[in-house]
Amino acid sequence: LKFLIIAALFSLLLLLLYSRVYPYLNFLRKLLGASRSMGQASAGSDARFHTAAPKPERKLVRCLSCGTWVPAERALAKGVGNAVYCSRECREKSADSNERKIAG
Ligand SMILES: [Zn+2]
Repeated sequence: LKFLIIAALFSLLLLLLYSRVYPYLNFLRKLLGASRSMGQASAGSDARFHTAAPKPERKLVRCLSCGTWVPAERALAKGVGNAVYCSRECREKSADSNERKIAG
């Protein structure tokens, strides 16, 4: 039971401390989130960045040819479905390989 009281006190202290250094933590988290969002661009974390980030809507799309993640505004769409490519080179390469598949 003693441990419970200590734990409760400790969490309270942590909460107090947390509210004190919140701006600092927020900044750190933004730094961490920037690198983490490369792997998993979840909608939940995006909503959190809406308030602070200067450019909130930065959707990442994956190049179908080489698999590189690129910003949606920089990606090239083929027009068919949601096929996107990082560069014209990749788009042409993909089209090329498709034709080869058909040819034999
Ligand atoms: Zn590519």
